[in-house]
Amino acid sequence: MRTKIVATIGPASENESVLRHMMIAGADVFRFNFSHGEHDWHSMMIDKIRKIAEEEGKNIALMGDLQGPKIRIGEVKNGEMFLNEGEEINISCQEKISDENGIYINHTNLPSEAKIGEVILINDGKLKLRITSIHPIDGLKAMVEIGGFLSSRKGVNLPDTCLNVKSMTDKDHRDLAFILQHQFEWLALSFVRTSQDISELRKAIAKTTKKQSPAIIAKIEKPEAVKNFDSILRVCDGIMIARGDLGVEVPFELLPVIQKSIIHKTIPTAKPVIVATQMLEGMMTNTTPSRAEINDVANSVMDGADALMLSGETSSGKYPGEAVAAMERIILKTEEYKSIYHKSVTAHPSGSKRFISDNIISAAVDLSKSTAAKAIVIHTFSGYTARMIAAHRPESRIFIFSDNQKLLNRLNLQWGIEGCYFKHPGITEENFSDFENILTKHHVVSDGDLVVHVSSVPPTQKGKSNMILLHKI
Ligand code: PEP
Repeated sequence: MRTKIVATIGPASENESVLRHMMIAGADVFRFNFSHGEHDWHSMMIDKIRKIAEEEGKNIALMGDLQGPKIRIGEVKNGEMFLNEGEEINISCQEKISDENGIYINHTNLPSEAKIGEVILINDGKLKLRITSIHPIDGLKAMVEIGGFLSSRKGVNLPDTCLNVKSMTDKDHRDLAFILQHQFEWLALSFVRTSQDISELRKAIAKTTKKQSPAIIAKIEKPEAVKNFDSILRVCDGIMIARGDLGVEVPFELLPVIQKSIIHKTIPTAKPVIVATQMLEGMMTNTTPSRAEINDVANSVMDGADALMLSGETSSGKYPGEAVAAMERIILKTEEYKSIYHKSVTAHPSGSKRFISDNIISAAVDLSKSTAAKAIVIHTFSGYTARMIAAHRPESRIFIFSDNQKLLNRLNLQWGIEGCYFKHPGITEENFSDFENILTKHHVVSDGDLVVHVSSVPPTQKGKSNMILLHKI
């Protein structure tokens, strides 16, 4: 399977046997959503996942997802209340329990930032209110345009309002410290608006740790992020198309075109791009996906996404293992469709920083295509060669050999990369036969198959691939 699966954990996947089922079924990355759960619970889950990954011999990456400045409803009296269409309700930004006298929204500056006529969406846009009056102290009044049940802590979106919020809350800073302490491989930031948000996160990381820091995923879920996408892409390490909030913040009919355009722009940068949310939503309660969901997963594979993400399906749904297995089945079948391979990545101008490596990489991919090689085998130091080879989406499988387990875990999010732990001081050409023996033992290649090796020779040339070897097993 070339397209990877990110599975969000939650109460439904707390159990070790469920986690193992998800891992064996094809989950490559486990996402910790810091909008939910206490640190003790997260610690327990880290231990379980790392233990099972070791037992199953998998390079599993952990992704910490910071909640960001998410605006929410507070607690609702008795957990739930009903908002009637056409009724005018009070909205307070001073903490209180929401009830028939008014609801609480946790953004203190709302009365000074919102304008009459603007829309307030609650619970992924299922409830819609329109602001009718604003009082600097008492708060706002809004007319219910689409009513329904309102339960505690539901998310709020204000697509028309220009909000002045910090990119990270105090809670995010506490969660970040936890994520760094536990050495997660990936860190996702919610509600990114500008490249500055990513730079500030990098500064916050640098203040806390000098150790290898997690790679940063920018979650694209605000109209500002779509507008500023090119500059955000330049500074982050990966992208998540967070369709849940995005589909509320922008008119939902824009989602398909935004998804295609973001994937198209991200692939050549060799940074992973994840398609997230409601991919197999029906499997929260059903054992099989809907026809539309099957097509959504398949189309995202055809778009060229590095990874597809499961959220509620694996964190609170009834069938977490089955959802991963269904996703894997659709991915595998779709990957038989040849046109997903060999995406063109721009040529590399002479004088560019990685002129030699980049041209070796393109040549290795072309060679793998013209010889129908079974595998491209890379000995990687920083992961650069592996990521760039994957960006070309070759049809030959991509194997990387490294003694850096954190790197193998991290690269497990990226399209097509399969990692093998290999401990050896200073790899030389003699090790190429070791790599082939390992792949033969795992039935990846057999006698007569062609393999393309990419490496840096002599090994002191660490990370600067300068050699291609085409070899018949
Ligand atoms: C989303 O909005 O699609 C998303 C992935 O974010 P979260 O699950 O953190 O709300």
